[in-house]
Amino acid sequence: MPSTPRPKLGQHFLADSRYRERILDALPWRADDLVIEIGPGRGAMTGLLAERVRKVVGIEIDSALALQLQNRFAQDAGVAILHADVLSVDFTELCRQQRLTECFVFGNIPYYITSPILHHLFAYRNCLRAMGLLVQREVAERLIARPGSRDYGYLTVSTELYSQARLALAVPPGAFSPPPKVQSALVTFQMRPRFPHWTRKECDEFLEFVKRCFAQKRKTLLNNLGAIYAREQVAAALAEAGHAGNLRAEQLSLDQLAAVFKTLRPRAK
Ligand code: SAM
Repeated sequence: MPSTPRPKLGQHFLADSRYRERILDALPWRADDLVIEIGPGRGAMTGLLAERVRKVVGIEIDSALALQLQNRFAQDAGVAILHADVLSVDFTELCRQQRLTECFVFGNIPYYITSPILHHLFAYRNCLRAMGLLVQREVAERLIARPGSRDYGYLTVSTELYSQARLALAVPPGAFSPPPKVQSALVTFQMRPRFPHWTRKECDEFLEFVKRCFAQKRKTLLNNLGAIYAREQVAAALAEAGHAGNLRAEQLSLDQLAAVFKTLRPRAK
């Protein structure tokens, strides 16, 4: 008997076999990949992936589910199940244990910790080749938004800094058991630094800057950045980049935000 789903752990299992196949087809896995699966749950995708790739390592926080999966795959050298919180997992170390330098990450992820998971994954970007994550449709729209759109913001810019993301498949609530209250979507990411020459420190500082830029979305960039830089410096930096003073952050592309950041960086208050 399968255990009762635990809503607090975001348990919505992929029950529709047609969607499992569609997801599998849409994921950019390679046969020689180490796939790290976040929250394998009852193993809806684990076995399917294991038949196709070098190895699947599943990270499951629910002890009962982790144990069931460990038993199910006990004879399968291509699958390992860790009972752990994904947010405490060192992805570089997992790759190293498999004598590899990079991996592919898949997850029908628990929606209650979407942002922390993305943040954690981006911290390990150097060992991620690509990813496929099932997220709320609303989050998917934010991940792939274009400048000027309602959904464009910090999440979009941080995603674009580290990867090329694409909405690969829309998934309706009925594909899951129990069905979530929201629509879902599979987003695929090819990990590719936008500014390969930037150090980790520069990337972190830039994202702090971007957070500031979007601190109050309806405010102008001048007002948002006025909290950390002298207003005349911000105005000068915007003018230097050819922007009007009443510009809002959402109107600027990643490259344009980076250009303003580079101009202002040495001039912080
Ligand atoms: N992959 C399965 C599927 O598609 O049927 C289950 C997906 S369900 C949306 C999310 C899974 O993540 C659950 O099995 C849940 O127990 C697990 N989970 C929740 N929080 C977690 C965490 N912090 N670390 C690892 N797994 C977690």
